[in-house]
Amino acid sequence: MENNNDKNNIDDVEVMEEKIIDYDDLCEDDKYFLMLKNVIVETGKQYDLDKIRKGFILSREEHRGQLRKSGDPYILHPVATAIILVELGMDTDTVVAALLHDVVEDTQATSEDIKKIFGSEIALLVDGVTKLKDVPFISRERQQAENVRKMLFAVAQDVRVIIIKLADRLHNMRTLEYQTEEKKRIKALETMEVYAPLAHRLGMSAMKQELEDLAIHYLDPIACSEIEKQLTLCKEERQNFIDNIIERIGERLQKENVKAHIFGRVKSTYGIYRKEFIQCKDFNEIYDVYAVRVIVDSVMECYNVLGFIHDMMKPIPNRFKDYISTPKQNMYQSLHTTVIDKEGIPFEVQIRTWEMHYTAEYGVAAHWKYKLGMNGKNGTLDEKLTWIRQLLDSQKESDDAEEIVKSIKTDIAADEVFVFTPRGDVISLPVGSTVIDFAYAIHSAVGNKTVGGKVDGRMVSLDYQLKTGSIVEIITSNNPNNGPSRDWLKIVKTSEARNKIRAWFKKEKREENIAEGKLALEKEFHRNLIALPESDKETFLLELANRQRFNTIEDFWAAIGYGGVSLQKIIPRVKEDFYKKYRAESKAVIADNIIKKTKSKTSSGVIVEGLEGCLVKFAKCCTPLPGDEIVGFVTRGFGVSVHKKDCINLNIANVDQERIVKCSWATETNEKFKSTIEIIGEDRPGFLADVSIALSNAKVSIHTLLAREIKNNHSSIQATISIKDLEQLNSVMATLRRINGVTSVNRIVQ
Ligand code: MN
Repeated sequence: MENNNDKNNIDDVEVMEEKIIDYDDLCEDDKYFLMLKNVIVETGKQYDLDKIRKGFILSREEHRGQLRKSGDPYILHPVATAIILVELGMDTDTVVAALLHDVVEDTQATSEDIKKIFGSEIALLVDGVTKLKDVPFISRERQQAENVRKMLFAVAQDVRVIIIKLADRLHNMRTLEYQTEEKKRIKALETMEVYAPLAHRLGMSAMKQELEDLAIHYLDPIACSEIEKQLTLCKEERQNFIDNIIERIGERLQKENVKAHIFGRVKSTYGIYRKEFIQCKDFNEIYDVYAVRVIVDSVMECYNVLGFIHDMMKPIPNRFKDYISTPKQNMYQSLHTTVIDKEGIPFEVQIRTWEMHYTAEYGVAAHWKYKLGMNGKNGTLDEKLTWIRQLLDSQKESDDAEEIVKSIKTDIAADEVFVFTPRGDVISLPVGSTVIDFAYAIHSAVGNKTVGGKVDGRMVSLDYQLKTGSIVEIITSNNPNNGPSRDWLKIVKTSEARNKIRAWFKKEKREENIAEGKLALEKEFHRNLIALPESDKETFLLELANRQRFNTIEDFWAAIGYGGVSLQKIIPRVKEDFYKKYRAESKAVIADNIIKKTKSKTSSGVIVEGLEGCLVKFAKCCTPLPGDEIVGFVTRGFGVSVHKKDCINLNIANVDQERIVKCSWATETNEKFKSTIEIIGEDRPGFLADVSIALSNAKVSIHTLLAREIKNNHSSIQATISIKDLEQLNSVMATLRRINGVTSVNRIVQ
């Protein structure tokens, strides 16, 4: 605050002018300047070094005396940000603006000063980045919405602003360890929810991946160390496997006279995290942990290579994706296929041209680095950014901050499906979109008249979820009695469809809205045990309506009816008011209700002391079973992870004991748990069959069964099975021990 006032103070302006900055300093012995210069020289690209040096000097002088949390001089941060941008191949102006990006905000220099010395283009870039600084704290959600909106406007003006902001965030994330716990959490979450999706939408996958990997380490450190352990566990084996595949594909392509560059790729930590902890896949079920990438010169060769690979190895059905003929909205293009080699191990192959490769890695930044995507068949850079304008347009009408953030998260972050109209136009929608979403994406009039849908010529229900490549036909009716149904609000995925349906109800059906809203409110009252004395009802409701800025109870009911007021949001406050007023009579009822709730919230089979109803997941490291002694670990942002009490991950020195909470098993649960056991026995024909028969007789379902030879003519079988509790596991293990030739059966924990 004080800083801003100072800027309008004449004395200080004079101080500014008195400050003599020596722009002739060649900085030959300044280690920070040399860091930047070396990276620039290495690129071999043309940069205006003199301009960059001037930018460096102004930044260094203005930030003189300021320190980073790490103890380094502040200038390190703008220099590191500039280096990231040089590595992305950005131009001189972007690099200079990066050096100056914190100058207007944090020092005496003004935007005018920058304009005078460096010209208006750089001043505009710096201004753009400065404006993206955090808005005053409202609610986290609203603040985020505000930030996202600003960022999108910035992109619409000059995408370089956002690229600088992403580089700035990347360096801050790389040095996040020096921040307070609270700041770490806020920054990591914001990076995950806003910055990484933005990088994704701009096609900057290298940037996106590093941001996500840095953030997830702060959000869920335990799971990350589990993943890293899994990755190192069989690193050598996998590396040999991939090397062998690369060699075989290489030989074949050489024989076919295709010039190709082939290399292996490891999935990012966060990529594995998503599959393992969010989509709940077993580590071994993740086909693309390791993938092979083939890069060729032309599109024609991409399809040829695909043919050769399918000829060499068996493709897995439904895993082939052609992002060359239908690029992702963020410009990504490649062919993806998953194949099985002769040893039965599935892996993914990605085939693309060099141009597609650069676009995939650098996204919009490839425009500067490789002069790509400026014209021709891929459309201009401007066209590629139209989605931002569309998103901004669709947000104009909504003023509910949480709604905005929600739709930005789904609209930006979700993966897309591509479907076709009968005429062959491509419509892209988020994954999970239905026939109704499609209808509204074409036009609201089509959506409102929809009575049915056909996918690839077959009638489907309205909640049918569309798949890429389908041809979708909407059946409409002009009967004025037809219109959207309220149930559609529960089915649709896109905010566009939801807003259009609500708009229709708001406009067309006042009487119905009132009835609907009244009923919904009464139901909600009933569910929350809000029983008003008949005599007080009207006053209570009117007060409630007025507080929501409605003049009459009817208007209020109508708004609930078309979805303009969310009951979930207002009910807690209403409940509080009600209990305050009528406390005495309802005390008993409340207590009863609380007990009911606590009991029902143990669907995971675990009761976490003091944290009823929290998100519970089971640690993959020790896979606890009912009967085991367990404890919970409060992760940052992803609920409580349940470990065995003696799990080594919780019994090492640097575990924060404060975050360990008591847990117990719920007495009644129908949950099944995954458990892995190892059976060792003499290697004989039929051994594996006997084990799987014994398991199926014991009525346990098998997830994976892996057999391999070990020394002394013995085999080891690792079986991952579904188990109810420790007792059942022990009995299954006893059964297995009775199999002919079995020497040991053990539960595998780590
Ligand atoms: Mn900064």
